[in-house]
Amino acid sequence: MWKKFSSSPGGSSKFFSQEKISPASVNSAKEVQGCDFPMTKTDMSRMKIIRATNQLYLNLDILDCLAYGKLFLMITEKKESSKKTVIKLEHVNKSFYQDEIVFPILNDISFEIPEKKLITLMGPSGSGKSTLLNILSAIESADSGKVEVFGNQLSQSTEEELTIYRRKTIGIVFQFFHLFPYLSAIDNVALPLYLSGISKSIATAKAKEALSLVDLGHRKEFTPKEMSGGEKQRVSIARAIVHQPKLIFADEPTGNLDSNSSEMIMKLFASCVKDLGISVFLVTHNEQIGLSGDINLHMLDGKIKTK
Ligand code: ADP
Ligand code: MG
Repeated sequence: MWKKFSSSPGGSSKFFSQEKISPASVNSAKEVQGCDFPMTKTDMSRMKIIRATNQLYLNLDILDCLAYGKLFLMITEKKESSKKTVIKLEHVNKSFYQDEIVFPILNDISFEIPEKKLITLMGPSGSGKSTLLNILSAIESADSGKVEVFGNQLSQSTEEELTIYRRKTIGIVFQFFHLFPYLSAIDNVALPLYLSGISKSIATAKAKEALSLVDLGHRKEFTPKEMSGGEKQRVSIARAIVHQPKLIFADEPTGNLDSNSSEMIMKLFASCVKDLGISVFLVTHNEQIGLSGDINLHMLDGKIKTK
């Protein structure tokens, strides 16, 4: 299914002209898939070519255009080898306190991660893996040190900036799915988009596409209680990618799944990196998974080691 995504027609992300659109050259894009933003004739003919090549690709472009009000491609050119840093931690410390007793959890952690990688983090229970993931997801804050993700200095950001960061830059996948039990799969996936102020029709269309990407298009009206663990986790992944984040954080995403479902989930994460260019930072107990991916981190005594 991800093959649909791999083919980038023409081999470039620059399909649409960037030239200023003059009123005389504007056509209603309603002619193409019901889109209602202004497009040049060149843009429209390019989109028709893309439509002929890849229907799904076109749909996502259109939805992006509608959602963000500008021409924008979800899939960027993958061939360029970039060494951009995605995550940069410098001397990060975190302790918890109980009855004035200090429990140091993260101890002077520093590391850097380049973009478009599948990163695994392993370590014993209680070693601080979730704490680190929560700091990276801006759910908790570090006591000291610098935490930078895609150029966002989390330690210096305002609450408003952190909310935007959580809504736009990252997606989160949990061990126990955290789906709303009485909402259908499609509503669970569309919910973060509704909360961001995107209209119901666009949110639903995007959610439908995201569910197709995780091969659950046929289960979109099912509620979580009608789904297997593996299917629920695929819905969670669809929810995590529906707003096209740059980075996914996953805390023990296969911890509650059988081996076949775990394998499928790991394939989906690998596809997120390979086909969509999304970085994935994954915490696991499973040694096999911990040694898969591109970068393997190990946490022990509040320190990180790279294997
Ligand atoms: P892991 O995910 O590696 O199992 P955690 O990051 O969840 O570890 O927890 C690390 C340690 O910090 C544990 O000893 C845990 O009890 C403690 N801890 C985590 N969150 C809190 C908190 N909010 N208050 C106090 N202690 C906490
Ligand atoms: Mg944990």
